[in-house]
Amino acid sequence: MPPERKNLDELLLLITVLKEIMSWKTALDVFLMASLIFLIYRTFRRLGTWRILLGILIAVTIFVIASLLELEGISWIYSNLSQVAVLGIVVIFQPEIRKVFERAVSLRRSETGNTESALSMLISEAVFGLAQQRRGGILVFPGKEHVTQWLKGGFSLDSEPSIPLIMSIFDPNSPGHDGALIVENGRFARFGVRLPNSKTDTLSREFGTRHHAAMGLSEVTDAFVVAVSEERGAVTTFLRGKINRACDKNDLCSRIESHWGKTSSYLPKTSLQQFKWKIPSEVSLSILLAFIFWVALATSHARISERSFVIPIEYTTVPQNLVLVGNKPVEIKLRLAGPNSDLDVLGASRLSVKIDLSKAMSGKQTLAVNEENIRLPKRVRIMEMEPLSLSIALEEILHKELIVKPQMVGKLPQGIELISVNVWPEKVKVLSPTGVGKKGEIRLMTTPIYMEGIREDAILFCKIIAPSDIQPVDKRWPDVQVQIKVHLKSEKKH
Ligand code: ATP
Ligand code: MG
Repeated sequence: MPPERKNLDELLLLITVLKEIMSWKTALDVFLMASLIFLIYRTFRRLGTWRILLGILIAVTIFVIASLLELEGISWIYSNLSQVAVLGIVVIFQPEIRKVFERAVSLRRSETGNTESALSMLISEAVFGLAQQRRGGILVFPGKEHVTQWLKGGFSLDSEPSIPLIMSIFDPNSPGHDGALIVENGRFARFGVRLPNSKTDTLSREFGTRHHAAMGLSEVTDAFVVAVSEERGAVTTFLRGKINRACDKNDLCSRIESHWGKTSSYLPKTSLQQFKWKIPSEVSLSILLAFIFWVALATSHARISERSFVIPIEYTTVPQNLVLVGNKPVEIKLRLAGPNSDLDVLGASRLSVKIDLSKAMSGKQTLAVNEENIRLPKRVRIMEMEPLSLSIALEEILHKELIVKPQMVGKLPQGIELISVNVWPEKVKVLSPTGVGKKGEIRLMTTPIYMEGIREDAILFCKIIAPSDIQPVDKRWPDVQVQIKVHLKSEKKH
C-alpha cells in the first residue's frame, strides 16, 4: 500500500471511530462496562483478591496495547489462550463472581436496610448489655483481608442483626455461646467460631483464652475484634495486635464505624464522607477503563483491511423476447477494502453482483461491471475486480413448433418386424433463440427406447430431451407416449 493511501486510511479510521463515539449507544455501552468494572473492582477489593484483579487488568492492558500496535506474536498468544484463561478465571474466582452478583442485588438493600451507624449502635448496645450481665462474648468485624482461613468450626447464620439475637447467641445456657460471632456485610454471618490463639505474649496474665483468641486473630488479619469479659464485665477491642478498653457504647460505636470506614468493609457506603472523593474517583477510574477498552475495540473493528471475495453473478430482468445464450460468466473475483466489522458482515452475507439486462439488445455484447452493480456498505471500496467486463450473448426468442423424435436404441429381437411407431404429441410448442437450429432442423428427442426388449405391441411413456436453450411454451415439458407396433416374421411364413 502506498504511504499516502495508508495515511488516508488512518484518517478515515479516526473519523469513523470519532463518529461512533458520538452516539448514545456508545455512551450506554461505556456506562454499562464501567458499572461492571466498578462492581468487580469493589467486590474484589473487599475480598482482598484485588491484587489478582490488578494482575488481570495489567494483562488486559498489555493485550490492548499489543493489538493497537498490531504485535502479532502477543496477539496470537492472547487470542489462542484467552478462552482457556477465561475458563480458568471463572473456576478460580467462582465464589468471588457469585459475590459480585449478590452485591449487585444488595447494593439497593443497603439503602433501605440497616444503615451503618444504626448497626454499630445496635451492636454496641448489645455488647454493653452483655457486659452488664457479666456474660462473655467475642465479635469479629473482618476488614479487607480474608479471615476464613483462620477460623474453625461454628455455625452459619446469615441473619439480620438484632439485640435479642446477640443476647441469645451469648446466653451461657445456649450450646452456641462458646466462640465468636462474625459480623460481615452488615449481617451476622456465623457464630460459635474458634479463633486462632495469640502467638505473642503481650497480653497480661489477667486475660484468659478468650482475650488471647481475640488478640490472635487481630495479629494475623486486619479484622477488628471485640471481647466482652464475663469475669470483669469489661469490653475490650483488638486491632492489628493492639488492645484497647472501650469505655462506653458510644466509644465502641465510633470504633466500629471507623474500622468499617477505613477498610470499606461494610456495604457500599451512603455516607457523605465516602461520596466526597472515594466513590467518584473509583467511578471515574471505571469509566476511564471502560472508555479505553471501548476505543481499543472500536479501532480494531474500524481498522481498514483488505479481503478477497468470489461472488456469483445474477442476471436480472432479461427482456421477455430475449434469452442469454452461450457461456456466460457466472462469478466475479473482488478485492475489497474497508473496516473489519463491515468486511465481517459482508463475509457472512450472501453477496452477489446484479447485472440488469432490462436495456440489453439481442446479439453479442460487453457489459462493464462497476460499483453500482454490487451493493456494498458505504465504507467499503473495491480495490480490484476480475473480470472488469462481461461478454454475453443474447438472442431473440422465437415461437416454434418442433417435431418429437423417438430415440430408438438397438435392434428388435430376431424374427420381429417393426410395423409402425407413433408419437403423441407429435409436435411441441417451444421458445427458442433465433440462432438455434439455423444450420439444420432441430428436433426434440425422447429418452432412449431399447428395442431388444420389445416382442409385441407396446405403449411406452418417455420424457423429452431438449437443448438447454430451448424452453417449452407451457413451462413444463409434456410426457410423450410412444406407440410401437410389431409382428412376428415367422408367423407370416406359416
Ligand atoms: P473472661 O474475661 O470472659 O473470663 P478470659 O480471657 O479469661 O475471658 P476464659 O475465661 O478462658 O477467657 O474464657 C473461656 C471462654 O472463652 C470459652 O468458654 C470460650 O467461649 C471462649 N474462647 C476460648 N478460646 C477461644 C477461641 N480460641 N476462640 C473463640 N472463643 C474462645
Ligand atoms: Mg477467665
